[in-house]
Amino acid sequence: MSVRESILREMGLGPIWRLRDAPDTEVPDVEAVADAAVDVAPDTPANPPLRRLSSEMLSMARNADVAAEAPAALTSAESREPPAAAADLDWDALTQAIQACRDCSLCEQRTHAVPGIGDHQADWLIVGEGPGAEEDVQGQPFVGKAGKLLDAMLSAIGLARGENVYLTNAVKCRPPMSRPLDASELAACFPYLSRQIELIKPRLIVVLGRPAAQALLNTDIRIASARGRCFDYRGIPVVVTYHPAYLLRNPLDKAKAWEDLCFARRQMRDRSSGNGDT
Ligand code: SF4
Repeated sequence: MSVRESILREMGLGPIWRLRDAPDTEVPDVEAVADAAVDVAPDTPANPPLRRLSSEMLSMARNADVAAEAPAALTSAESREPPAAAADLDWDALTQAIQACRDCSLCEQRTHAVPGIGDHQADWLIVGEGPGAEEDVQGQPFVGKAGKLLDAMLSAIGLARGENVYLTNAVKCRPPMSRPLDASELAACFPYLSRQIELIKPRLIVVLGRPAAQALLNTDIRIASARGRCFDYRGIPVVVTYHPAYLLRNPLDKAKAWEDLCFARRQMRDRSSGNGDT
């Protein structure tokens, strides 16, 4: 068994994907798998609804251009200016600010704030929802089973944690009992994510799960309908897919996540070769 086959088997895709002859393309079985899977992501702790969107966010959502006709084109979600709260902080100051932050109630029960980890000059930025129990204890994002699955997902497209990849979350502190985040918490923490993006200057952002997608793109998004599109965050292409914690509970959707990662890799390659729709 090849390393790639081992990785895909680890993702639960071994019986579905056979990439030895066509490493960049999906085999036809995926449509059958996708049809058999739930098409609309349910509201779950890893994929919850935003229950208290501000009127401003709802207005932006109504005005957002989310055309589905051109999946490879950048889709502009909105055009807000970056928040100023963390502006001009360097990496050390930003990390210290996050670890000392008390700007929302999530600070009250955290063990550690979790700023992120990885290559500060990475081409790839991966943004999840928020720290879970193990992340809260260790102070690192994406550890435990979900982290192991994310590592397998990255490996399957030729990436490795810490090598040209930076991992972070939309909020840096664990929600108590891993409850759904609300819009005020996502908004309070957004300046830190915004500053991380300014510092890293990634060439592509992969967003994992609905809350993170809504925080970054500032529009009401469902992963099932946003997949296969390339959104825009201040000129940086953004691809959305399911959170690995959701995939652990819904393994049939791993096939969709694999499609999305292949799509993201094609976007990166197309833009590297000057063929992107920017
Ligand atoms: S979640 Fe973000 S805004 Fe809230 S206390 Fe933690 S670092 Fe501050």
